[in-house]
Amino acid sequence: MVRALANGSKTLAAGEFKWFAQCTDAEATAWVAHLLRCAHAWPQAETDEAMLAQVEAAFAGVDKPEHFTDRSHCDECREHDDTLRARTRDTLRRSDLGNAGWDPITFSSADGIGYFFPALARFALLPDVWPDHSWYAGQLLSHLAWDGQDNRFLVWCSPLQRRAVHALLAHVAATRKEAVAQHACLDDLQAALAVWQAPTG
Ligand SMILES: [Zn+2]
Repeated sequence: MVRALANGSKTLAAGEFKWFAQCTDAEATAWVAHLLRCAHAWPQAETDEAMLAQVEAAFAGVDKPEHFTDRSHCDECREHDDTLRARTRDTLRRSDLGNAGWDPITFSSADGIGYFFPALARFALLPDVWPDHSWYAGQLLSHLAWDGQDNRFLVWCSPLQRRAVHALLAHVAATRKEAVAQHACLDDLQAALAVWQAPTG
């Protein structure tokens, strides 16, 4: 089913699910729509869930900021602020996260990234199934590699949070080797691993 979704066929995915779950067409179609909408609906491997639990624990205390971007800066910053303010960690969708050319997280403050990080990590561990968007891990890796030791999210994170981010990166490296190569993300992954591992004084 995941393969059918990744190939862009929601109908085929619904067919596979219907066969698997022995449910009606309508139920199967609704389930596929739910999967595409909601990161929490996906069955994750046990090791993924353990990884996500570590990330969730590390960022659990981060409150949702009132604003995410400097919304007076320009129209794009205002729109990104509106997008992120309208969501919570639980309701954030892949479509909210845009693509490399239109990405609200690029403009978010570090505490805004910290607030959403458990959701970002969850999206990063999902396969490349989005009909109109690319694999999310590629975007997240570029955010984590950006600016090296001056990365604003790195600077903002506590040692515990840095360890969780580094563990997530190591988990991606250990479990998503093919996807990382296929999406040409190896440079970003290696850069991010170096950034999040290095002591920053
Ligand atoms: Zn702006």
